[in-house]
Amino acid sequence: MTDSTHNVAYDTSTITTKGYQAVKAVQIYISDWWYALLAHPRLHDINAGYAAPLRYAYLDSLAVKFMWTNGIVVLAILLLNTYFNLPAIYPSILGRESLSMSQALLCMAIGGVALALPLVSRTRIDNHFVWRIILTLSLATYTYLLIFVTGGSGVMYFHMVLVLVFMAMYADWRLEWLAAIIYIVSQTITWLVNGPGGMYSYGTTWLSAPLLIVFLLILTYICAAYCRNYRQSIDDLLESMRRNDHFLAVASHELRTPLTSMKGYTEVLERRLKRSSQTDLLGYATKLDDQLSRMTSMVRDLLDVSKMQSGQMTLRSERLSVNTLVGTAVEEVQALAHHHKVIVSGWVNTPVMGDAIRLNQVLVNVLANAMKYSPTSDKVKVALVEHRDTVVINIRDYGMGIPIKEQAQIFEPYYRSQNALRADVPGGLGMGLYISSEIIQRHGGRIWLESQEGKGSTFSIMLPLAKPGLRVDKLEDIDRDS
Ligand code: ADP
Repeated sequence: MTDSTHNVAYDTSTITTKGYQAVKAVQIYISDWWYALLAHPRLHDINAGYAAPLRYAYLDSLAVKFMWTNGIVVLAILLLNTYFNLPAIYPSILGRESLSMSQALLCMAIGGVALALPLVSRTRIDNHFVWRIILTLSLATYTYLLIFVTGGSGVMYFHMVLVLVFMAMYADWRLEWLAAIIYIVSQTITWLVNGPGGMYSYGTTWLSAPLLIVFLLILTYICAAYCRNYRQSIDDLLESMRRNDHFLAVASHELRTPLTSMKGYTEVLERRLKRSSQTDLLGYATKLDDQLSRMTSMVRDLLDVSKMQSGQMTLRSERLSVNTLVGTAVEEVQALAHHHKVIVSGWVNTPVMGDAIRLNQVLVNVLANAMKYSPTSDKVKVALVEHRDTVVINIRDYGMGIPIKEQAQIFEPYYRSQNALRADVPGGLGMGLYISSEIIQRHGGRIWLESQEGKGSTFSIMLPLAKPGLRVDKLEDIDRDS
């Protein structure tokens, strides 16, 4: 039997009894119902595309901490009020009425479920909106637990405000109204059932509950308006980023063609001037050529970034020798080096799978940086180390180094270290390492650095070794600049 909606196959061969069949049928019914519920248009996550700019991962971990704090506070109050009988000794905002042991146990059970539900469901539910609903319900439960375990302390109503404000960070106005409805319904019921006497925590007149409700409505309206505004500003930001990306893609693409022909003409000019021995003019032509090379590499970086951001950078996957990769890159940078010698040590027997051109780009970038940012030293050391099923390529220089506080940002786009700026080293746009780290990550590897200011840096590139028997030359669509 196959459940076509979720592609789940049920093994009917073991179904022997009617009871078992009934259980299975209920299981299928519940799972159908659950999937249909999750797919319901009203449960559509309006922020589905915003997870990164809204920093959901961070907010979720904050929510989990918030939940744990709630749990611990409720438990502590239960212990004080039930076990130590605090209200009898000193009635305070923490306790006005002692709870019986069975009440305390019930509170603990409810609190445990409220704590467990968001934690357990977080990894099981893809629809983040459904998870946010569970979180809202759990936090609302804690509001009432806090009020209940303290014997109706008015101060604990502050938790309602806290929940509304906290949920506003998720920029979803629907949650604000959901929490508000829960609070308003429960307050109205308490008010109708108990009358003003039962609501002593925030006043004993008939007006106390309606006033609290009005206050909640105003707060909910403000939080919901904030959510809408927050979403709008993120929309605007994403739109302007999209426009910038488009501009970047078009500009870098268009600049590449004239630059390539300018470079070609300059090389012809250099050759002619060399032949006619016009050394003064040759100097200018060489400088022109250098600057054009710099500009070409900047434009190439911009194009790479725009390709990466639009997901258009595809990589070849072929068996490559690490020794050849490193040897070629070293040769390339050595040819342009004025006073640096690159010393290579180590040999790797197993190949890696990857894109030779992109890996060469990474190695050349890191090696060129090692020379560029160590103007007073004369050597760069490269060491190849095979470790289990990976290879680590360490590139060590003896230059200016990178201060510890800047090291975390060095792989971010457009970042250039203060040392480099102060020393006026002619660099690029600060994109090389960002592109390199993306390329290495997409090869299943890692790039990191160790550096000491004034003493130099070691950039390490880790790549997984090809597994024996892996298919060679598995080609994907290739999108090359040429
Ligand atoms: P850039 O084109 O500016 O060199 P990168 O992304 O390659 O861009 O490097 C980013 C920044 O990291 C550089 O501007 C420089 O400040 C710093 N950096 C990179 N490599 C080194 C190194 N070997 N030693 C010191 N600083 C470095």
